[in-house]
Amino acid sequence: MSQSNEVINHIANFTSKRDKDLIALSLLKSVNSMMNSSTSFLVSIDSNGVVLSKMILEGASCVVIDTNIDVDSELILAFDHMQKNSIEEYSVTIHSVNTLICLLHHNSTVEQFLVVKLEEQTDKIQSYILSGILSIYDNFVSLLNESQVDELTGLANRKTFEHAISKVFDASSLPYETIDNDKRLDVSKTKDNLDRYWLAMLDIDHFKLVNDKYGHIYGDEILIHFAQIIKSSFRNADLPFRFGGEEFVILLKAATKEDCFSTLLRFKQNVEDYDFPKIHKITVSIGAVEFKKGTFHVTSIDYADQALYHSKKNGRNTITFFEDMLLAGSAEFLSVEEGEIDLF
Ligand code: GH3
Ligand code: MG
Ligand code: MG
Repeated sequence: MSQSNEVINHIANFTSKRDKDLIALSLLKSVNSMMNSSTSFLVSIDSNGVVLSKMILEGASCVVIDTNIDVDSELILAFDHMQKNSIEEYSVTIHSVNTLICLLHHNSTVEQFLVVKLEEQTDKIQSYILSGILSIYDNFVSLLNESQVDELTGLANRKTFEHAISKVFDASSLPYETIDNDKRLDVSKTKDNLDRYWLAMLDIDHFKLVNDKYGHIYGDEILIHFAQIIKSSFRNADLPFRFGGEEFVILLKAATKEDCFSTLLRFKQNVEDYDFPKIHKITVSIGAVEFKKGTFHVTSIDYADQALYHSKKNGRNTITFFEDMLLAGSAEFLSVEEGEIDLF
């Protein structure tokens, strides 16, 4: 195949995807084949320099590591050097291996570095093609982000929720593995018996009064502050969404209900402690339910919503689990099975 055909095929491949991890995987494959590299990976870091994830292509398979991430200290120094000096492409020798590092920009809060270990020096044409492919990748991911992110708060929008939950439960169908290094040590702890997910619905208390007293624009400002508290209170594995208005949903990973409760409690306290401009204090009510594989997501949302309503009825600024309502006899499971609800 001619080089130009190969380049077009690589671009066609990653622009055909709508999932950021799949696009990244496709990019890594393209880079490996074009640069004759046996090892290339993507490292995402946040604005404080904390490494959030590493996606690595090992042979034909791809692994995403999101806990206990091992990144060479020399690489961290190189990333820092690139950021401080606004360098987008950097060649450095690390442990006697020629390493090419490219800074990708498609998010203001998370930066991604492409690291390519080279067996031979790149020629001018390869560098030129690589920088072209990276610009297209960058533009494409930015466009995708724009369509999936709520403009006001920067959180994922409701549209992306269904896709996110299918990814959570159907990890086996992904063409890559998500690895937690703690679990890599103990193969008996498989994904199925360790990971449990919870759906938490958050609704700001008496938000209408905020709008009525200070106006809608000020209300929007409060929502931006509120989203910041969400971003800083939950872990990387927890996924927040703005569902609409002043309602947010968190897909939370926690091994037990107690763990989930303490995470939500910490968040609720962070909201209470926050000094909002003008109004100073706001509170939030929360409803939560375990999000089980096999339960229709609309049903889970309904359970979380019932729990939220219970929190509202019981003084607000509180957390209710649907499971506790079941135990108390104040709620029951819906008998509707997946596929029986006609949404539209
Ligand atoms: P409750 O404690 O029962 O939740 O009381 P509430 O006043 O918060 O009631 P509710 O949740 O029903 O009202 C939500 C209000 O949020 C209604 C609307 O004025 C406001 N709102 C919804 N979306 C937006 C938005 O995007 N920006 C602003 N500023 N306000 C919004
Ligand atoms: Mg509401
Ligand atoms: Mg409200």
